[in-house]
Amino acid sequence: MRGAVIHAPGDIRFETLDDPKITHSTDAIIRTAVTCVCGSDLWPYRGVEPTAEPHPMGHEYVGFVEEVGPEVTAVKPGQFVVGSFATSDNTCANCRNGFQSNCVNREFMSTCQAEYVRIPNAQGTLVATDGVPGEEFWPGLLAVSDVMGTGWWAAEAAEVRPGSTAVVVGDGAVGLCAMIAAKERGAERIIAMSRHEPRQKLARELGATDIVAERGEQGVARIKELTGGIGADSVLECVGTPEAMSQALRSARPGGSVGFVGVPHDVAVDGQELFFSHVGMRGGPAPVRRYLPDLIDRVLTGAIEPGKVFDLVLPLEQVAEAYKAMDERRAVKALLKP
Ligand SMILES: [Zn+2]
Ligand SMILES: [Zn+2]
Repeated sequence: MRGAVIHAPGDIRFETLDDPKITHSTDAIIRTAVTCVCGSDLWPYRGVEPTAEPHPMGHEYVGFVEEVGPEVTAVKPGQFVVGSFATSDNTCANCRNGFQSNCVNREFMSTCQAEYVRIPNAQGTLVATDGVPGEEFWPGLLAVSDVMGTGWWAAEAAEVRPGSTAVVVGDGAVGLCAMIAAKERGAERIIAMSRHEPRQKLARELGATDIVAERGEQGVARIKELTGGIGADSVLECVGTPEAMSQALRSARPGGSVGFVGVPHDVAVDGQELFFSHVGMRGGPAPVRRYLPDLIDRVLTGAIEPGKVFDLVLPLEQVAEAYKAMDERRAVKALLKP
């Protein structure tokens, strides 16, 4: 089979790789229906995360089950499945508590930009749809495997409630999905922090009621102006930089909450500032598996359309161009078709 391999920053190649095989009795092999490039794939692409040796890439997927290990009974060959970027047995204590992305047997997916993928912990990880959904739903279901699930988690972690005010920091795919989530969870006012005009337009389409283009001090001042001088009930941090985290913390009102789902890079939180702010914080990799049945249903009924975050569609063999387009901000998120 063929798939994407990173060799060095900026160097993604589409190569012939060994076909994945069942190596554990709990594995499944899927044939990729569609996959994509994630904002977090840009960290190694930009050299922010080191690439010690060439390795496959990708953690977002939907596909058709090809083969299952002897312990996998929940899905069977031929079914269309959606899974999380973090695999889980769905039976350990952490899974039962709803934090499947901290499963004691967790393995992160990392080989999904390929024609076939081995899914560890397939029994607990994969959810099959009723029949094969129409191709028009595949982008939305693909988004559920990470960015939509992550946006949902941002809203849950930031305690978005009906009637509340939510600020979303970040207008990438996760930020846009966080706006969808905030709307679905009943936020009355959704303030998108975005400086890019095409993304502002999409943000409004997905649920944002206000746009704040300012950043830093001015950004905080604008949020306060819009929230009676005190800050927002909920802030959904979807970037992972020190600037974004600081923006998020200072945009929440006393007693408000920050949900941070951008993988932090060089982020340090000032203990004194946090202490005196009365702001609650929760973050981490999204427990996507917990949300899968609900989010799959919302996509298939048309309640949400997270597939709209894909503004570039390429054949899988052009994966290098997909990275380049996202790196150069010519695309929000690139979908890849094997
Ligand atoms: Zn991702
Ligand atoms: Zn578990």
